[in-house]
Amino acid sequence: MSQESIDAAQTAINAAQVAVDAATQAAQVAQSAVVEQAPAVVQVVQDVVVATNGKGILEAAYIAAAVLFVLALAALSKQETAQQGIFVGILGMIVAVVATLFSSDVTNIGYIIAAMLAGGAFGVRWANKVAMTEMPEMVAILNSFGGLAAVFIGYNSYIEHSITEPVMLSIHLTLIFLGVFIGIVTFVGSLVAWGKLNGRVKSSSLMLPHRHKMNLAALLVIIFLMFSFVGAGLEGNTAALVIMSLIAIVFGAHLVLSIGGADMPVVVSMLNSYSGWAGAATGLILGNDLLIVTGALVGSSGAILSYVMCKAMNRSFISVIAGGFGNDVVAPTGDEEQGVHVETSAAEVAEMLMNSKRVIITPGYGMAVAQAQYPVFAITKKLRDAGVDVRFGIHPVAGRLPGHMNVLLAEAKVPYDIVLEMDEINEDFNTTDTVLVIGANDTVNPAAKEENSPISGMPVLEVWNATNVVVFKRSMATGYAGVQNPLFFKENTTMLFGDAKESVEEIFKAM
Ligand code: NDP
Repeated sequence: MSQESIDAAQTAINAAQVAVDAATQAAQVAQSAVVEQAPAVVQVVQDVVVATNGKGILEAAYIAAAVLFVLALAALSKQETAQQGIFVGILGMIVAVVATLFSSDVTNIGYIIAAMLAGGAFGVRWANKVAMTEMPEMVAILNSFGGLAAVFIGYNSYIEHSITEPVMLSIHLTLIFLGVFIGIVTFVGSLVAWGKLNGRVKSSSLMLPHRHKMNLAALLVIIFLMFSFVGAGLEGNTAALVIMSLIAIVFGAHLVLSIGGADMPVVVSMLNSYSGWAGAATGLILGNDLLIVTGALVGSSGAILSYVMCKAMNRSFISVIAGGFGNDVVAPTGDEEQGVHVETSAAEVAEMLMNSKRVIITPGYGMAVAQAQYPVFAITKKLRDAGVDVRFGIHPVAGRLPGHMNVLLAEAKVPYDIVLEMDEINEDFNTTDTVLVIGANDTVNPAAKEENSPISGMPVLEVWNATNVVVFKRSMATGYAGVQNPLFFKENTTMLFGDAKESVEEIFKAM
């Protein structure tokens, strides 16, 4: 072994030692079952290093990082351990990045470190500035970066590669073609999703005539181009790659534009899944095992989340990803009022609450916008101290990102045991005295029970079965799906207009 490789191995071992120390420290700080497994991961690393006489340090670090990513996902699946899951994920990423930096394949390390510092500084500044309500948009933009990276790597690997063996070359070209295609669809689709989430692009679905035929035709042309691209072998067929890229831009934009507001949660998690598969394809192109594992983890967890969301919303997965297939005949949507609504005041609501035995609070996106979770918890506490049974009913797609409401309520220290999923609480509304609908709209819309509504079939919180329903919002505007809500005009519903935080604070004062 040369002195140079001994030095490189020593540096890598030092880096691994730093990771070992960090893992041990994280284990001490978090004191959780999950984090306590970090030393076991470190043991795996050390075993591989010993078994390969120090040469397998990169593989060992990649295995450790992959295991840490799996542990992070496991911890993220429960509210109680989610924060530790984030730490474990960060640790895995540190191990992965440090190991990659010290691998023998990396040259021009100065440029890489400069890019990392610039990107890191920008990312930290941006993440600190972003409001909780803008998180889904940020996730959409970050997904788009993943797609764009796959496109750059795909093009780069096409322009410069040293593979000449025909079978390997065919595999390499197929991966480039697929990686670039998925990457562009992810990039453009995520940009459109970002626009839809922040209101720059209309959230309702774009219903072009013959859109399914157009999608199918685009896919057939892309398959034909792939055969001609791979078939060209060493000669190369740049035109096929460029034409496919142009079609993929239109395809990606159309795919997301044709999906209606209420189905957006599925689209966001689906694009997240695509960015994972684009990463896995990139890993295969570069022969990087960790990128393959990480891409597959993101791809499959995103696909599972999309499936779970489709089930929760009673939607067919295929229909949603094919762009609202089956939604062609819908009743006209709009914000025309469908009756007379009755207004109430904070003092009246305070009195109604104090006279109730059972109360359910169903929060939605408006609670996040108003940041009303803290005063909401204050009234919850006051009511519980007065002997009122208060619980929360959470719709799976309330807010603008999966688990949005759970995060807000956890932030305000609402006990987990009074926060129930829609399925756990939906039967209980008819024995409830008062329901407070705080900034929710689509998720409590009885129009979902009617045929020919854009949200038909989507399960909703059946709040109207309670004795009294109070809706907190600022106007009679529709929710994200753009569908008017008949709940507002029911006899047992009263409207408390104003910013949700101010309204709840006024109720607290009046109680
Ligand atoms: P909606 O978006 O349907 O409605 C939110 C309501 O909050 C609006 O009617 C708005 O009315 C009100 N509001 C806004 N700001 C305030 C404020 N400061 N104070 C009081 N009220 C306010 O919310 P839901 O949570 O019920 O439904 C979520 C929707 O978003 C669903 O359609 C879902 O499919 C979609 N979606 C969900 C995602 C997810 O992953 N969870 C991702 C993308 C989309 P007004 O303006 O009159 O105040």
